[in-house]
Amino acid sequence: MSLSRTEDPSVEQAPILHVDLDAFFASVEVLDNPSLKGKPVAVGGAGERGVIASASYEARRFGIRSAMPSVMALRICKDLIIVPGHFDRYEEYSRRFQSLVGDVTPQYEPLGLDEVFADLRSLARLNVRPVAAAHELRTRIKDELHIDSGIGLGANKLFAKLSSKRAKPQVRDGKLIAGPGVVWVDPGEQLTWLRQQGVRALWGVGPATTERLERLGIFSVGELAALSEGTLRSHVGPSMAHTLIEMAHGRDDRAVVANRATKSIGHEVTFASSISNLDDLHAQARQFSAVVARALRASDQVAHTISLGVRFDDLTSTRRSETLSFGIDDETAVSTIASALLESIELRGAVRLLGVSASSLRARSNSELQLAFDLPLSRDDDAQRSAERSRSQQATRGALNDAVDDLRRRFGRSSIGVGTDLLDGSLDVATQRGRHAFGPEAGDSDNQRP
Ligand SMILES: [Mg+2]
Repeated sequence: MSLSRTEDPSVEQAPILHVDLDAFFASVEVLDNPSLKGKPVAVGGAGERGVIASASYEARRFGIRSAMPSVMALRICKDLIIVPGHFDRYEEYSRRFQSLVGDVTPQYEPLGLDEVFADLRSLARLNVRPVAAAHELRTRIKDELHIDSGIGLGANKLFAKLSSKRAKPQVRDGKLIAGPGVVWVDPGEQLTWLRQQGVRALWGVGPATTERLERLGIFSVGELAALSEGTLRSHVGPSMAHTLIEMAHGRDDRAVVANRATKSIGHEVTFASSISNLDDLHAQARQFSAVVARALRASDQVAHTISLGVRFDDLTSTRRSETLSFGIDDETAVSTIASALLESIELRGAVRLLGVSASSLRARSNSELQLAFDLPLSRDDDAQRSAERSRSQQATRGALNDAVDDLRRRFGRSSIGVGTDLLDGSLDVATQRGRHAFGPEAGDSDNQRP
């Protein structure tokens, strides 16, 4: 299959652009500490429970991946240098990155810190050619931020994102193979290309959903496309089934929404006295999630993005969000994501303000309501109804687990021990541990091999 990298589609043929920075956190660490250049470097927690959040390509050559336990990563590569994360630096680079994309078009939408979608349609009249614009953007990112990136162009977000992945360097048999940098797949070939890929390539399909599909004998996107949505619904839940079938056929009507954050439903509270107990914070986050979920249901909307913000006593603040491939309006779902976001934040001290919000809102689609109406209407259908409901709940749980996995991959997992540290009221401990955003160190600095 040929990837039409050299051809020059029109904006109508390739309206959506997706940029993804290469090994973002690790790249920033190397820029801030040039002695790390060319070495296997990972950002993460070096301690027993630490997780890798980002790995340089030198580390990836050894098979080190995001979300891998650090202990395992060090076993695979004993020279691996694990550094704690510096989110203030990543946020600064991310702002500069977004402003470079903003120079191409104001119609852009960030997804996390290191990915941005842009809609090029408003540039059609200016005779902008997407492939040329993408190469120019990639060059500017390299020249001004000194970070490599992959850019994909496509008819929709799905193809743009799959193409940016294809544009990046790849590791094969321990060797690093440079990527083409910019990829656009000809519309005549894109469905064939899509169907050859494993289901894992689809957005929102993580380990839990992959396993569920593989148990049904579905490994490739092509196999998925052969199923009916109705068949799939009882295995992965109605919302996920709809998304999966649409994606398997290359359909994706999600718009690029600029200034997404302004359209949200949220609940935040400044506490009368600041909270330093992690359990108390989780309890508050659960309550706020319930408020947000009720407001979502009342307005007949589902949210694709959940954010959590905290402000500390020293008035510094942090905000994290996770975007899901499926919409949620349920208290448990909102609170699962909010709790995982809270875990990912390094608690530098007592929390003065906490907020949970839902954005990327959409009207609740029929497919998400169908479960209730599709059930067989026989008189003794109670057992069937409850079996159906329990399968659907399990499926939702699986999709949520995938989202939490993704979140940990992006932000790393915070220390399990932090609750106890804070319960002891010892802010010294909490502050010290603040150096290690991805988990406790093993007790000394031996793990960080210079
Ligand atoms: Mg990236």
